[in-house]
Amino acid sequence: MTPAGRFAPSPSGELHVGNLRTAILAWLFARSTGRDFLLRVEDLDRARAGAEAEQLRDLAAIGVTWDGAVVRQTDRGAVYDDAIRRLTDAGLTYECFCTRREIQEAPSAPHAPQGAYPGTCRNLGPAELDYKRSTRPAAVRLRSEVTAYTVQDVLQGEFTGVVDDFVLRRNDGVTAYNLAVVVDDAAQGIDQVVRGDDLLPSTPRQAYLASLLDIPVPEYAHVPLVVNSDGARLAKRDGAVTLADLARGGVTVANVRDHILHSLGLPAGNLAEALAVFQPGTLPRGPWVWDGIGPSHTATPGLP
Ligand code: GLU
Repeated sequence: MTPAGRFAPSPSGELHVGNLRTAILAWLFARSTGRDFLLRVEDLDRARAGAEAEQLRDLAAIGVTWDGAVVRQTDRGAVYDDAIRRLTDAGLTYECFCTRREIQEAPSAPHAPQGAYPGTCRNLGPAELDYKRSTRPAAVRLRSEVTAYTVQDVLQGEFTGVVDDFVLRRNDGVTAYNLAVVVDDAAQGIDQVVRGDDLLPSTPRQAYLASLLDIPVPEYAHVPLVVNSDGARLAKRDGAVTLADLARGGVTVANVRDHILHSLGLPAGNLAEALAVFQPGTLPRGPWVWDGIGPSHTATPGLP
C-alpha cells in the first residue's frame, strides 16, 4: 500500500475556511512527502444529506486533489466490529450501562484525571451485569491499562494526554470516532495524520488503541485552528465563512485560496506553486484570526 495522508471531514454541513485551510495543509504535507492523499467521509454521526457532495465540490474547487475512491465510514461496520471483537477476545473491553448524567454525577476515581470515565461498570459481577443488561443497551468501553500515553507531533512536539476507558461503541450501536479513525487510517495505509489541533487531546487515546491493535502509530501534525475575532473556533455563525457564502459577496474561490495561502506564509496561486516551497517548519504556530475577506482582497474594477 502506498503511504498516504488524508482529510477526513464529517459531513455535517459545508466546509468553512478553517476546514479548507486544514485540508490544504494536509494535502501539502502529503504531497510534499510523496504520499498519496485520501479522502474519508466520517459519516457515522452528524451526517446531513447533501453535505458530502458540497464538501467534495469545495475541496476540488480550491485545488485539493485526492487519489482513489472516497471511503465512507458507514460502509465499514464489519471492520469496526472485527476490531472490537479482537479487543474483547483479549479481555480489553467491557460493557457500560452508565447514562451521561450518571457519569457526570459519579465521584471520580482516586487519582483519575479530570473528565476521565470513573470506571463504574469496569468490574460488574455476573448478577449485576445480568440485571443491567435487562435495563438498557450497553456501550462498549476499552479496558485501558494506562491512564496516559505520549505521542510525538511534528508541529507540537511531545504530547502526553489522558487515556481513560473510552467508548468504542456507543449504546445506540454506532461505532465511536476514536475506534473508527484508528482502524480506518490503518486500513487505508495512512501513516501521516494532519488535522486541526482541537483533536490533539484525543490523540493519545488513538495512539494507545493502535498499539493494542498492533497498528503502527502514524506521524501526527496538529495544525492551529482558524478562530473568530473573539478567539473562538470559527463556526458558521461567524458570517460568510464558506465558499458559497463568500461567492455571494463577490469573493472568488481563487481569492479565498490565496487568502488561506497568505495566512500560511505561502505564495498565492494554484496549490502546485505553494507545494514547491512548502516547509512545515516555517508554518505559523498560532491560530489564524479570520476577519473576513474585505474589499481590499477582492478584485475592484477600476483600481490598478
Ligand atoms: N471527522 C473529524 C472532523 O471533521 C476529523 C477526524 C480526523 O481528522 O481524525 O472533525
